[in-house]
Amino acid sequence: CDQTPLQAVLLEIGRELESCKGEGNVADYIPELGNVNPDKFGIHLTTLASEHFAYGDTEEKFSIQSISKVFSLALVFEREGERLWQRVGVEPSGNPFNSLSQLEYEAGIPRNPFINAGALVICDHLISHCSMPKQTMMGFFRTLAGNPLIGFNQRVYESEKAHSYRNRALINLMKSYGNITNDLELVLDLYFFICSIEMTCRELAQAASFLANSGVNPLTRQQVVSSSKAKRINTIMQLCGFYDEAGEFSFKVGLPGKSGVGGGIMAVHPGKYSIAAWSPRLNAKGNSCLAMKALELFTTRTKMSIF
Ligand code: GLU
Repeated sequence: CDQTPLQAVLLEIGRELESCKGEGNVADYIPELGNVNPDKFGIHLTTLASEHFAYGDTEEKFSIQSISKVFSLALVFEREGERLWQRVGVEPSGNPFNSLSQLEYEAGIPRNPFINAGALVICDHLISHCSMPKQTMMGFFRTLAGNPLIGFNQRVYESEKAHSYRNRALINLMKSYGNITNDLELVLDLYFFICSIEMTCRELAQAASFLANSGVNPLTRQQVVSSSKAKRINTIMQLCGFYDEAGEFSFKVGLPGKSGVGGGIMAVHPGKYSIAAWSPRLNAKGNSCLAMKALELFTTRTKMSIF
């Protein structure tokens, strides 16, 4: 990549978006998530050649929330293989991330691993595969991001736990269909823990880069998932990464990606780069207004989308 234009494009986008800063609302159904400065904005891109380009609050930690679902899927898919798809699907849900209705008429099988129900099934698998799943997950993030200091936010974790009515409804419904095998409290606890992990845009872009690199962590050269699995995870991000706005994100940005209600979005361009943007104000579908706009402007101006 030609460095000057990429850095200049991020700068131009960052400045342009200053005027849109008031749009949207911070998620407050998990009260602790409401305690952030709503007007933060950062965007960080890392190429497979380890070049870094950034604008804004890219070194500030934020709650990665549902973006974590990509990483827990990667760990479990690598261990479980194709059998995984007996208990969770790969279809876009077209429904909100915490919707109960599909589970009822689809016999407790979540549409995909990126809605809450699907991620709970993934956590159930993690518990079955790992003796210390929290440590395993944390170690995974630290290795991928190249930072041993990544941690989780205790207050967010507790806030999620105290307001977990929907996730409890989801897991109980799945249990009634026999699609949860471990203790429900353990599965929920692991899920809240993973959602409350905090990272910066820079760390997140780095952590995602194995998905742009055929499953190989560019920092360690370790094969994290097979290239075929990396392809499939990217496909699921493309189809299901943005709740019931996945079509819109694909249409506007043209990259596989995943959002979280903390206001983060991570996306990859296989073979080229990974990128993370963050701004806490969300649109009605739960995706960050500014992060989405920034990525749309970025792929439009640089023509660096996969399409
Ligand atoms: N921890 C959040 C929840 O379970 C994750 C939601 C999200 O980021 O999509 O509601």
